[in-house]
Amino acid sequence: MSERIVGELNPPERILLGPGPANIPPRVHKAMTTPLLGHLDPAFLAIMDETVHMLRLVFKTANKLTIPVSGTGSAGMEAALCNVIEPGDTVVVGVKGYFGERITDMAARYGAKVVRVEGEWGKPLAPAQFKAALEKEKNVKLVAVVHAETSTGILQPLPELARLAHDHGAMLLADTVTSLGGVDVRIDEWGVDIAYSGTQKCIGSPPGLAPITFGPRALEVLRNRKSKVANWYLDLTMLDRYWGAERTYHHTAPITMIYALHEALRVVLEEGLEQRFARHQKVASAFRAGVEAMGLGLLAPEGFRANPLTTVKIPQGVDDMAIRGALLNEYNIEVGGGLGPLKGKVWRVGLMGYNATSKNVFTLLSALEQLLPRQGFKPPPGAGLAAAQKALSA
Ligand SMILES: *Cc1c(COP(=O)(O)O)cnc(C)c1O
Repeated sequence: MSERIVGELNPPERILLGPGPANIPPRVHKAMTTPLLGHLDPAFLAIMDETVHMLRLVFKTANKLTIPVSGTGSAGMEAALCNVIEPGDTVVVGVKGYFGERITDMAARYGAKVVRVEGEWGKPLAPAQFKAALEKEKNVKLVAVVHAETSTGILQPLPELARLAHDHGAMLLADTVTSLGGVDVRIDEWGVDIAYSGTQKCIGSPPGLAPITFGPRALEVLRNRKSKVANWYLDLTMLDRYWGAERTYHHTAPITMIYALHEALRVVLEEGLEQRFARHQKVASAFRAGVEAMGLGLLAPEGFRANPLTTVKIPQGVDDMAIRGALLNEYNIEVGGGLGPLKGKVWRVGLMGYNATSKNVFTLLSALEQLLPRQGFKPPPGAGLAAAQKALSA
């Protein structure tokens, strides 16, 4: 066997303006180089307590069961579903995007009867369709929706859906992977019973943890289960014994990831949640004004646009891969391509957390202005930057 040792890691420095991960603040990188502790060391237990305290502030919740689950956003999705679903339960899922679709797949694997509320990707979900589904199905246990659908750039209002679910004796579950830390999420005020997120989008930490919060109704359901949670690793009754007062070993906590989340949450709260949402709003508005002035269209309708992720329509005749390839290779900028029915039709531009800056908006607009003419699409020179500049000073 060859003894060749490969060269040292030397990844290029990219500007990550896709659907995540986003670049993270240097402070968060630094936190990850601090000394490891054991997962039951009192010094680490204190860090855990501080982390969940900050997570509750960011979720705007008093929910005791609020923890970061080990794994990425999809582990949060899995934990949210597997802890409340028992075989035969009816779950109504809003599907107007890739992540709504993923929820249906997971829920079905835990034995749920999945009822889809669906429609064209790129439009918000209609509460009337949920009402009809809740009235038709008897005993719906759970209504699940994606707050910020990263495949379409739609921000779905939650309070009305929470009211509808509760009026029919169901819980509301919200995927807040792309919204948390970038747009307002009010778990308690809106009546969201279960929510999960991921650390690599607007929170400003690397991928690897999935914050989750369970409200009183969801806890009640968890406590009264007839069967054991079908997923050992993500069983919140056991995880709660480690994160709560008992400190019972379940699995070794990913110490360094929790350091990163701890520091990222400090950065979020130092900026202030409302200031942070305003920054995401301002930067997203500037980017949208810029692309529209260049003659490009937006997929999500006004009033339902998720600030952390903008879907830009690819003009007729422009090759998706040629532009994204040139952005990556010549400008070190990553943007996302379309998923499912939107493949080749949209670019997904994330302006998330640390990356939600006017500098990144100008950099990307300038690069697009340079690259699009190669594909025969000629934006009016300077129009994009001027419109973005104007939106920023408004
Ligand atoms: C990214 C994302 C997920 C999945 O998260 P992973 O970290 O990729 O597992 C789930 N839901 C939404 C809305 C997302 O944007």
